Amino acid sequence: MTQHQRIPAIDPAKLDRLAEVAVKVGLRLEPGQDLFLTAPVAALPLVRRIAEHAYRAGAGIVTPLLADEEVTVARYRNASDQSFDRAPAWLYEGVAKAFSANTARLAIVGDNPMLLANEDPAKVARASKANSVAYQPALEKIAGFDINWNIIAFPGLSWAKLVFPDETDDAAVTKLADAIFAASRVDQADPIAAWAAHNKALRSRSAWLNEQRFEALHFTGPGTDLTIGLSDGHEWQGGESRAKNGIACNPNIPTEEVFTTPHARRVSGHVSSTKPLSYQGALIDNISVRFEEGRIVEAKASRGEEVLNKVLDTDEGSRRLGEVALVPHSSPISKSGLLFYNTLFDENASCHIALGQCYSKCFVDGATLTPEQIAAQGGNKSFIHIDWMIGSDKIDIDGVHADGARVPVFRKGEWA
Ligand code: ZN
Ligand code: ZN
Repeated sequence: MTQHQRIPAIDPAKLDRLAEVAVKVGLRLEPGQDLFLTAPVAALPLVRRIAEHAYRAGAGIVTPLLADEEVTVARYRNASDQSFDRAPAWLYEGVAKAFSANTARLAIVGDNPMLLANEDPAKVARASKANSVAYQPALEKIAGFDINWNIIAFPGLSWAKLVFPDETDDAAVTKLADAIFAASRVDQADPIAAWAAHNKALRSRSAWLNEQRFEALHFTGPGTDLTIGLSDGHEWQGGESRAKNGIACNPNIPTEEVFTTPHARRVSGHVSSTKPLSYQGALIDNISVRFEEGRIVEAKASRGEEVLNKVLDTDEGSRRLGEVALVPHSSPISKSGLLFYNTLFDENASCHIALGQCYSKCFVDGATLTPEQIAAQGGNKSFIHIDWMIGSDKIDIDGVHADGARVPVFRKGEWA
C-alpha cells in the first residue's frame, strides 16, 4: 500500500465473517434465543452485522448495550465522590433475569485497555468493587456456565494505537484488525470449518491429559522450577464446551489453550513471568513469585510491584492458583509477537497460570458439585481471576503420576 491510496481501515468482508463466527461458533445461538450484547461504541459496525446474523439464525430479540470511553472518563473527572461507591444494580438484576430465561451473552472488547491509567486509582478501585458486587447475580450465571456465552474483539482506534504506537491511525487499526482476524480464524476461506478442525485438535489434547490423570505438572525453565499439583477430580477443558442449557459454544474467540484446576494447597517452587501483564491500566513486568503449600509467600516485579502486591492482598484466595493452561509457543498469537494488553489475546500466546477463582467446569461432573465440594477437592475461591504468562520456547513440562513416574508433556515450549 502507498501513502496516497485510501483503503478502508477494516476489511468489511472479514468483519462480516467475524460476526458470523461469533453467532455460529462462539454462541451457537439457537432459534428463539434472545441475545444480550455489550460493546464499545467504536464496535457499532460489528454489532450491526452480529444483529443481522443473529436474526437470520432465528434470534428472538437482540439487545445491545454500548459503552463510550469519553462517557466513562467524564465520570472520573466530574462525578461527585459518592458516585464511586455506586453501580447500576437495577440493570444487572435485569441481566441476571434475562440469563435465567436462557438469553445468550456476547461481549465485544475493543476499548483502550489503558483508559483509566491516569485516573485516581482509589476511585477506580472503589468503582470496580461496587460494580463487582452489583454484577454478582449476573456473573454467577456466566461463571457457572448456565448459558452459552462468547467474547470476541473489535479493533478500536485507541486500542490499536496502544499496540501499534508508531503507525498512523488508519494503519494501526488495519494492523490490529488483521491480527484479530487471523487469531479468530476469519482470514481463512471457511472459518466455520477451520473452527471445527481447531476444536477437534483441542479436544484430543484435553482427552489425552484427562486419560493421563496427572497428579502434578512440573514446569522448568529460566527462573522457573514450579510444581503445580492438580485438583482431585480435575478435568482438562479446551475450545468448545457445553453450557448447562445444553448448547456447546466457544466462550473465547480466539482460544488456543487447554486448561484445568490446580490444587489450591499443592503448588510449590518459583516461577517467572515471560510477558508483561496489563492489569487495570497498569503494566506489571518481570514477575517472579515463590509458592509454599499453594500460597505465594514472596512476590517481586521489575515494574508494577506495588500493584501486584495490592492484587495479592485482595482476599484469602488471591495468593493461590485457580487455573493452569497449556499453549504451545508456536500458537498463531504467539507467532504474531505482539503484546495486545488484553487477556483474551495475550493468554492465548503462552502457557499461563491464573491467580484466584477456579472454574467449576474444570472438574469431573463440575456442574453437580457444591462450592464446598469444589473447595474440598482443591478448587480455589477468590474475587479475582488474573491470568499471567509463564510459557516460552525454553519451558519444559513433565506430567507427574501419583507413583512418581514422569511423562514429557512440553519440550522447549511445544507439545512433546
Ligand atoms: Zn486461561
Ligand atoms: Zn484464566
